[in-house]
Amino acid sequence: MNTPRQVQAEQPVLYSSETIAKENGRVVFNLQTGVRHRGFRVKSAVSEIKPVPCRRCVVLLYHRLTPGPARQRYEVSWVQARRHWQELAHRGAGARSLRTLWGLAGPHKPQPGQLCFALSFDDGSDSDFQAAQWLSDLGWRATFFVNASQLGKPGYLAWSQVRELAAAGFEIGSHGVDHVALTRLLRTQLEFQILASKHRLEDYLGEKIVFFAAPFGAWHSLLLETVEQYGYHGLAISRPTPAMSGAFLIPRYGIRRNMRTQQVVQLVQGGRLRVQEYVRGRGMHIWRSWRQGACAGNW
Ligand SMILES: [Zn+2]
Repeated sequence: MNTPRQVQAEQPVLYSSETIAKENGRVVFNLQTGVRHRGFRVKSAVSEIKPVPCRRCVVLLYHRLTPGPARQRYEVSWVQARRHWQELAHRGAGARSLRTLWGLAGPHKPQPGQLCFALSFDDGSDSDFQAAQWLSDLGWRATFFVNASQLGKPGYLAWSQVRELAAAGFEIGSHGVDHVALTRLLRTQLEFQILASKHRLEDYLGEKIVFFAAPFGAWHSLLLETVEQYGYHGLAISRPTPAMSGAFLIPRYGIRRNMRTQQVVQLVQGGRLRVQEYVRGRGMHIWRSWRQGACAGNW
């Protein structure tokens, strides 16, 4: 009698927060350089993109900006955000989109002495539109990661606003169709989130969507491979470390409501906060899970 064939459930590897990602003790990914190592079948994006002037760069991540005091950990008030940006502008810093810093929008030529960093916003909140107007006043650009199914809903950008942002030179990236932790989905569901969001945005905007940001910062090997397989040039995650221009994996500093302006300036200036100092605001349990190598994301 034939026994039904055992189907091995796919177990994607949940990467730790360490700099060197390992599978079965073997190095597969260097998070600092974005370089994958032997035996990992998807090739690195590093070799495909010409080097750009800023190799090491800082990517900041904002979420919703609130008119009053911020209530959620990753919300920031209008006043705070403007204070961050004005102080950075005062010190000669200039924000760019990821596309520009990754050399995908032609050669990137910062002005002499200018400190370039990338600015990104997740979730497509309606506050993004106002933020873009202030950034335009400073001559800055940013990348907005939006969820295709959220657009047009109360509290979120309208599709027409997304088009206006793109027309004004801001970059639009995908944050999935829905705002769900992709590491909890089956492969087919995961592929749908990554591919359908890209197609919907590209069809509407008429331009390529080249970066994907993982909702909640949660990612694993299958997500990484799928994002690359479907033609993205980078996967943005939340991880308090500088990024490397051109690398596929893009760590970003999530800006929290309790961060001081000076801390944000320090991050951009490369005077990286000690991890302990950065993590302290998230509570000791998170710090412990960090030390134990749990997923760096989930914020
Ligand atoms: Zn998000």
